[in-house]
Amino acid sequence: MTAKTTTTAYEGVIGLEIHAELETESKMFCGCAVVDSTTAAPNTYVCPICLGFPGVLPVINKRAVEFAIKVGLALNCEIATVNVFARKSYFYPDLPKGYQISQYELPLCKNGWTEIDLPDGSTKRIGIRRAHLEEDTGKSIHVGGSSLIDFNRSGVPLLEIVTEPDIRNGIEAEAFGRKLRAILQYLGVNSGDMSKGVLRMEPNISVRPVGSTEFRTRTEVKNLNSIRSVQRASDYEIERHIKVWESGGEVVQATMGWDEARQQTVLQRTKESAHDYRYFPEPDLPILNTSREWVEAIRAHLPELPDTKRDRLMKAGLSRYDASVLVADRPVADYFERVMQAGADPKKGANWIINELFARMNKAALSAERVNEQKVSPEALAGLIKLVDAGTINNNAAKKVLDAVFAEGGEPSAWVAKLGLEQTQDTSAVEAAVEKVLGANPGETDRFCAGEEKVFKFLIGQVMREGRGKFPAELANDVLTAKLNARCGKS
Ligand SMILES: [Zn+2]
Repeated sequence: MTAKTTTTAYEGVIGLEIHAELETESKMFCGCAVVDSTTAAPNTYVCPICLGFPGVLPVINKRAVEFAIKVGLALNCEIATVNVFARKSYFYPDLPKGYQISQYELPLCKNGWTEIDLPDGSTKRIGIRRAHLEEDTGKSIHVGGSSLIDFNRSGVPLLEIVTEPDIRNGIEAEAFGRKLRAILQYLGVNSGDMSKGVLRMEPNISVRPVGSTEFRTRTEVKNLNSIRSVQRASDYEIERHIKVWESGGEVVQATMGWDEARQQTVLQRTKESAHDYRYFPEPDLPILNTSREWVEAIRAHLPELPDTKRDRLMKAGLSRYDASVLVADRPVADYFERVMQAGADPKKGANWIINELFARMNKAALSAERVNEQKVSPEALAGLIKLVDAGTINNNAAKKVLDAVFAEGGEPSAWVAKLGLEQTQDTSAVEAAVEKVLGANPGETDRFCAGEEKVFKFLIGQVMREGRGKFPAELANDVLTAKLNARCGKS
């Protein structure tokens, strides 16, 4: 094969495989409690069934089926009425039975879709191929050369969701990941905490020339512990594949890991052949019938979902994208609603959260869903916005107040007093500052009079600096305009 001399435009072809634990009270096939496997003492929530002892009999957890149906309905899937569980046989130390109970030919949910909102304001429909119920495995813990296994997670209900390969790049993968996580959070079936492993997303990635419909060799990326990593790993793999094809090489089917520190994928293993899982119907479980009546009763009780909430926020004046950002994390959506309830203008509230609060949280290494772990309460943020609306402080002073509340907590009005940021209503002080600035910058004044209007921006900046954040912007503008016009002889 010779190296290509022309440059082809490529596009990514990405499908996501998602594993979401269903946070029911008890496990999928036994009565053991579902616990936080990152904090509970290892192997304390186990029994003969989830430890895979011979001769034990599993019993289907009805609540887990209900949770899975909720997700299927929220993803516009067809819900099967007849469900067959299947044995997926493979050996792994964290799977003591030697097989996982899953679903194969007859998944509970199939042929669904959801719509994602993209940063450029466009929307895109992503197909959901299937979603099926299975059980989680135990967790291997590697300590100093030894491998230990915690079976608390063994048998926790797990929903595997597989998308169609409709995703083209990391941005779309991220938007889908956020959308799906929000749906799970709103339904109350999963906390969405990827760092704890209760939600795991694995992209399958290939590339092809734009306009082609072929599917080239794909790689999958595992061990992604945030949605941001899903985006970065997807874009990284797309670039890597393009380089391989462009240089005349061939992409090898492989499982990749993600090196968070180096922000690159690393080869874990190549796949010589597909696994033979020897699926067959699980003989210890009956066929599960999910009646139309039951499914419709579940549908009738679905809570408000992210799209409905987004539409409601758009009606309150928000742009589609801002609204989709705010609803993407359940805690952020709740926070924003409380800012509105506390009397802040919705549009201003959205701006302050997305542009100012998120920036400060980002610097403090707090992701958006941890909005309740920082010190600015929704009521405090609403109070700050109202202080600006009332003309008590200007925008710049408000940012300083937000810095203070974010760092130390407390009431915005108290910080305004403490930092001496209240705006002056004293016109003569503004006039004096304008005179001082014009006197100190005669050259700029002449240039303004000669028609160079952009000098105004510089001069108003000097005036505001004189006011140390206390001059109302509109007043300063008016005074400077009047004095400049007088100096230019325009009056
Ligand atoms: Zn158990």
